[in-house]
Amino acid sequence: VVVALVASWLAHQRPQPLELLIRDMVLGRGLRAAVRHRRLRVHYQPLVDLADGRVIGVEALCRWNDSRQRPVAPDVFIPAAERTGAISMVGREVLRIATEQSEQWANDHGDGMTMSVNVSPLELSHPDFLDGLKALVGEAKLRRYTLCVEITETAIISDPHGALVTLSALREMGALIALDDFGTGHSSLAYLAGLPIDIIKIDQSFVATVDTDPTSRALVNAVVRIASALGATTIAEGIERPSQLRVLKELGCDIGQGYFLGRPAEAADVNWAVRTLA
Ligand code: C2E
Ligand code: MG
Ligand code: MG
Ligand code: MG
Repeated sequence: VVVALVASWLAHQRPQPLELLIRDMVLGRGLRAAVRHRRLRVHYQPLVDLADGRVIGVEALCRWNDSRQRPVAPDVFIPAAERTGAISMVGREVLRIATEQSEQWANDHGDGMTMSVNVSPLELSHPDFLDGLKALVGEAKLRRYTLCVEITETAIISDPHGALVTLSALREMGALIALDDFGTGHSSLAYLAGLPIDIIKIDQSFVATVDTDPTSRALVNAVVRIASALGATTIAEGIERPSQLRVLKELGCDIGQGYFLGRPAEAADVNWAVRTLA
């Protein structure tokens, strides 16, 4: 009885640091095993040109089921992978799968489709990252500007000089660079102006209310102008309704991504059809 009481008490406590640490370790081990056994999957979500409805590329999004075959959300396992160091294995695996898939699609549909891959700050600053990526891009014989690396403001703030060096090298090897979740971090415009950024992704939190809240609308408008000043293309994330799409087009946003335009899907199920946006 005492044991049962203690167990139930423990179960109802808020997670304590030790529990979090153990949970991270379990996730980290599971992820490493998944990479070794090639059980990680990648889904692809279409990026749609808001001018003509064409799919101009996809974003690769990692998918993982735990040992009981339950899907674990990336927002749970990616941070755990970052804290345990498993992210370098996971990141390399996603890049391997995505570049292979990109080669496949280039053979099937011709060149010109962008493959966007998320890269964590830790991966970006890893000394082997650039060489590893170069090898994959070479193996897949990817054309220049086919691969797009999505980074967050965190990667820039944590090491501005290192970020500049790495991003410049990426640009040189023909990768595009996208700044993900823009507006949620703390990077300064002064830093951004000095970086080779091709794409700014407007965070979902602004897009969520762009059609209902004048403040969101004004903020998205401001981001589109900042992007234009930096010479960057804009992608709006998280479009779920036609009314959001309408406002985003009005504000001059270039590209859209979201459930309304296409959910993330397995490679074979990606819908390449031109979207009707009117
Ligand atoms: P992200 O890079 O900002 O990716 C966009 C997320 O929004 C994805 O969540 C996508 O499924 C979701 N999404 C797309 N359209 C909509 C929409 O209309 N409504 C809503 N509510 N959500 C939408 P997902 O796949 O769960 O990934 C979450 C985050 O995990 C990603 O955010 C990214 O930061 C990270 N992540 C995923 N895969 C990888 C990876 O391979 N490497 C790294 N480093 N991070 C990854
Ligand atoms: Mg992303
Ligand atoms: Mg994002
Ligand atoms: Mg995000």
